[in-house]
Amino acid sequence: KPRSASPSVPAAESKRVRLAPLRFLWPYALRYKGRLAAAFVAMLAATGATLAVPMAVRRMIDHGFGPDNAGLIDSYFTMLIVVAGALALASSSRLYLVTTLGERVVADVRSDVFARVMTLSPGYFDRTLSGEIVSRLTADTTQIKAAVGSSASVALRNLLMFIGAMAMMVATSPTLSATALAAIPVLVLPLVAVGRRVRRRSRAAQDKIAAISAYATEAIGSVRMLQSFGAERRTADHYRKGALEAFGAARSATAARAVLTAVVIFIVFSAIVGVLWMGAQEVLRENLTAGALSQFVLYAVFAAGALSELSQVWGDIAQTAGAAERLSILAAEEPDVASPASPVPFPQPAKGAVRFENVSFAYPAEPARPVLNGVSFMVEPGATVALVGPSGAGKTTIFQLIGRSYDVGDGAVLLDGVDVRHADLAALRERIALVPQDTTILAASIADNIRLGRPNATDREVVEAARAAHVDRFVMALPEGYDTVVGERGITLSGGQRQRIAIARAILKDAPLLLLDEATSSLDAESEAHIQAALEHLMADRTTIVIAHRLATVVKADRILVMEDGAVVDAGTHAELSARDGVYRRLAKLQFHNTATAAPED
Ligand code: ADP
Ligand code: MG
Repeated sequence: KPRSASPSVPAAESKRVRLAPLRFLWPYALRYKGRLAAAFVAMLAATGATLAVPMAVRRMIDHGFGPDNAGLIDSYFTMLIVVAGALALASSSRLYLVTTLGERVVADVRSDVFARVMTLSPGYFDRTLSGEIVSRLTADTTQIKAAVGSSASVALRNLLMFIGAMAMMVATSPTLSATALAAIPVLVLPLVAVGRRVRRRSRAAQDKIAAISAYATEAIGSVRMLQSFGAERRTADHYRKGALEAFGAARSATAARAVLTAVVIFIVFSAIVGVLWMGAQEVLRENLTAGALSQFVLYAVFAAGALSELSQVWGDIAQTAGAAERLSILAAEEPDVASPASPVPFPQPAKGAVRFENVSFAYPAEPARPVLNGVSFMVEPGATVALVGPSGAGKTTIFQLIGRSYDVGDGAVLLDGVDVRHADLAALRERIALVPQDTTILAASIADNIRLGRPNATDREVVEAARAAHVDRFVMALPEGYDTVVGERGITLSGGQRQRIAIARAILKDAPLLLLDEATSSLDAESEAHIQAALEHLMADRTTIVIAHRLATVVKADRILVMEDGAVVDAGTHAELSARDGVYRRLAKLQFHNTATAAPED
């Protein structure tokens, strides 16, 4: 399956920071209004306490050092201790409230996005690397956790502090404030210029890291295959190259950040020195007391500190906006295939009758390459139809269309007379039991893996299905029997064992339409002979379409459809088709010959 390696969400290429995507997070934060309000109150209290300190300092300098003022000094110091206590309490409450808010919001965002990903159609996963989705769920949500749990509160706190300190500066000395205010643009402009470069570079670094994470996820998922081709060195080298590129990008971002720090420190200190110098002139001219100047300078330091912290979290906020944007796109992703608003109910009782009406189809990943061309056929209720044809003919695709993993391009697929696009998806899939060509086994217990066929099945039903599919033969040898977790402590299953679990799932599901996609291809002759009996028992009282790889199955089918290059080129019974000199005879000779001898003769 060709899948594009390019991210489905374009890396933010614009230079301008867009904060609008942050709106995505707002409803999540609003779920916790109480916590949000309490955090805000704690923040206001902490800011208020900090802003009270310079006032105490001024009183102390201007009035406290006179003769006989020891009592006054004591009361100022007592006041400062009380302020310190209030500040400590307010800050720790804020930390707790805001951090837990971040954790909670991220838990909610992750769950919602994951739930949405689970609903997306196979077509989405054809075009998106799973590593990329995982990176959305981990890296991007971690970024948001940091933002909600820290950067946002740092930003708000410093904004409050900046406004409060500015107001107090004006209250202390309007003239000095006017000069300080006039200096602000001079301070801010270089910060903005350097800050922009920092942002651009750290975004590039982030993209590089996301790319190698996605690569690692894919490589780890297929490490056995890579090793079998001796590709582990090449894969590791590729990863190392990516990691070094990520380092290069991070180093360049850090260099820009270092320049920013130098600029900030120099500008802020010069500004404070400038204000102090001008204030000193005012004190000399006796327009200002020494205490008032101290108070003013402290507020100026607070304001400048708040401003520089704001400029630093700005980058975080911008990155968070990027993460929120990617997550909001993923959260809003609509499945290509969904239930209609008012589904047509299936007739009861279920028959499992299938009808293809002039179906044409191309996979969304390759829309220009037709896979099915005007396929029409009918499967009568209760019949067994074999689908044969060379590999790549489109047999598996037929099954994907019946279960509506994809929608047809043209024509229609009907199950029990209802166009599958008009039916409720869950109701449709309830009527179908599929044994796929490649079985996926979950990292769960064997019992749970089988129970996927019918979640409310009793333990006894699970074991019965397992016995019929000859799963019990190898399960008995496992340390914890049916409770053995696949994937743990080195428990892996062979292809044949997986296939038997898939058959057990289908037996347990007991659906009216059975779809077998080369269902016994990975089994040894003996297991196959045993399971064949179970399958035949299953097929006896329901409609079955079987993609056949062995002659015995084909011979027994009520009808055989011969496929080639995405079209049904012939149909009939084994006897009829063998009599004709066509694709079937060639297939029967080449493809079925080997397996026919392994099949039990009857
Ligand atoms: P068969 O089961 O008869 O061997 P398939 O139905 O699996 O054939 O495949 C038919 C064609 O569709 C093949 O050319 C295959 O490469 C292509 N194909 C299968 N799955 C996908 C997919 N998910 N995306 C794009 N092309 C696909
Ligand atoms: Mg196939």
